[in-house]
Amino acid sequence: MPEEFKSHGLAIVIMAVVSVAVIPSVALARKTQPPAPAPAVSCLFNDSHFHLTNYVQKGTDMAKYVDEIMGDKVCRSTVFGIPLQQTWSYGNSGDFAPTYYLQSDAPLYYYSFTDAYIANAYLKLKPEQRQRLDPMITGFNPADMYAVDHIRRVLETYPGVFSGIGEFTIHKEFVSSKVAGEIASLTDPALDRILEFAGETGLAVILHSDIDMPFAKAGAEPVFLKQMKDLLRRHPRTTIIWAHIGLGRVVRPVQGQATVEATERNPAYREIVEAMVADPTLSHVLFDISWDEVAKYAVSSPEAIANTAAMLNRYPDRFLFGTDNVAPADQATQLHIFNMWDPIWARMSPDAIRKVRMGNYERIFDAARIRVRAWETANVK
Ligand SMILES: [Zn+2]
Repeated sequence: MPEEFKSHGLAIVIMAVVSVAVIPSVALARKTQPPAPAPAVSCLFNDSHFHLTNYVQKGTDMAKYVDEIMGDKVCRSTVFGIPLQQTWSYGNSGDFAPTYYLQSDAPLYYYSFTDAYIANAYLKLKPEQRQRLDPMITGFNPADMYAVDHIRRVLETYPGVFSGIGEFTIHKEFVSSKVAGEIASLTDPALDRILEFAGETGLAVILHSDIDMPFAKAGAEPVFLKQMKDLLRRHPRTTIIWAHIGLGRVVRPVQGQATVEATERNPAYREIVEAMVADPTLSHVLFDISWDEVAKYAVSSPEAIANTAAMLNRYPDRFLFGTDNVAPADQATQLHIFNMWDPIWARMSPDAIRKVRMGNYERIFDAARIRVRAWETANVK
């Protein structure tokens, strides 16, 4: 455990040196965002994927999240809402007030106020609470050429707050088709503008896009894989975290040949991920293993456990743990997903464990904080 804290100390020193050397006027950023925190001894992980609020913009109090739910078990965490609001259509569900997208046929729409809500809650925290969080901008429509202007406006309105954008969604089973207006696409220039701007400012990106459509034919190449790789390759300057490695509730790890035994669940999928990890044109891409649905696949059999642990041990710099919890009520909920991975943690090297649970988060979000604060200093008048 002690080596986990050396890098924290180093990160603090580096941030202090860089902010003095590179950023001449950091009064604004300093006021709102101190450097990276010194972790508590019993920290288990940093949460790279966390939603404070749900599909009707309700959720956990941010101070409670830091003090009670992260507590001394989660050192640092991303924090974002959900950009999509479920409409309560009286004509559809009457007096029943839906709180989840599967509970109504009415559309979802982009609720940009989520970013102001997150920023205001963050700014009310004490400095020592703020330093443990990395707020993310989500309230934009990725099918809108003006989306990038929203992101810029949020940075200008709340300098010193945000480290990244996302989780935002292009393809998601049951969700994409419910979104009012233009359908998002991996080939939309609006999305290229967003990723280009993230590269320019240093905003880290958490992108959700299913690798495939639900109930796809076994053995076929996932429908969205090529578009996804092409998109990622167009933005080599941008740090992009692919949420859930493209998996979903029914978008399962794709099967290989028909002869593959039932216990060997996903050889083709493993090959797809491994090829991407090894591809030098995708070295700016990381893979997020958050969500209990992903954990279920990873621990579904002894072979899946062994294969997943082997992948994480082989490429420990490229995977990030996160919970994908939405507005949890208590710490037990937050730790449940972490504990689902126990069989895999048990098969991982100490170095891989440290990186996947803590170190990769620190590397990405420490760099994002420094770069975005520098962009704000140069561009926010
Ligand atoms: Zn999520």
